[in-house]
Amino acid sequence: MKFEGNLKKMKVLMEGDEIQYTMDLNGDAIYMNDLIGSRIEINFEGRINCIACGTETKKSFGGGFCFSCFTTAPEASPCIIHPELCEAHLGGGRDPEWEEIHHNRPHFVYLAVSSAIKVGITREDQIPTRWIDQGANYAIKIAEVPYRQLAGQIEVALKDVYTDKTNWRKMLTNEYLEGVDLVEEKWALEDVLPSDLIEYFTEDDEVTYLHYPVIEYPDKAKTVNLDKSPNIIDQIQGIKGQYILFKNIGALNIRKHSGYFIQLTT
Ligand SMILES: [Zn+2]
Ligand SMILES: [Zn+2]
Repeated sequence: MKFEGNLKKMKVLMEGDEIQYTMDLNGDAIYMNDLIGSRIEINFEGRINCIACGTETKKSFGGGFCFSCFTTAPEASPCIIHPELCEAHLGGGRDPEWEEIHHNRPHFVYLAVSSAIKVGITREDQIPTRWIDQGANYAIKIAEVPYRQLAGQIEVALKDVYTDKTNWRKMLTNEYLEGVDLVEEKWALEDVLPSDLIEYFTEDDEVTYLHYPVIEYPDKAKTVNLDKSPNIIDQIQGIKGQYILFKNIGALNIRKHSGYFIQLTT
């Protein structure tokens, strides 16, 4: 089968113990789990369309934007990367209407384990999506706050204790910290955080374990990008985070190629 369209982040769904990945190319839903173990072909002819306005752009900025949208679109505003700067709860921000809908609403702060314990935040409706997108192995919610800036404050307060980055090399080879007691880890933070932030801690102590559809992880992490390798023909060994793990050429980060117009042959 042949499909074409602009790449965007794969949709993820947790079905019991299994993570299901779906790629949407111009309205066609492609069930990626069904392609694991088989060869696919991806062709990129150099066209990139901005994920916000659709305009063709030579280079993508901030993960899929044209330069103009990168500097003006609310989805690319500074409070995306620095939530502690968010002004949504004050009626402010780059686009106050967008901020009201997306950031002036409940957010979670969480701990997620891969090769290290990472602190992160996300919107209430993005769990477990966010954990899966990052390729975490297991995770727990720590706090639930009414708006984004507060989540940012907690994250900043915990940056000395935990990393806020994922080591993608170790994530791709599946080297992760086993046996971390996340419930204990979470409640130990009561001694670390100021009491006005502790009041937002959630009683929900469920630890979510994430199992990725992977036949075999690579021994060494290696990535491939469509700018340098516009034609890919290889067997899919699995999917983790937003990476498709190919047998020989390495891992392709789909999210990083948002807006790339591709042809996919299965
Ligand atoms: Zn644009
Ligand atoms: Zn914001």
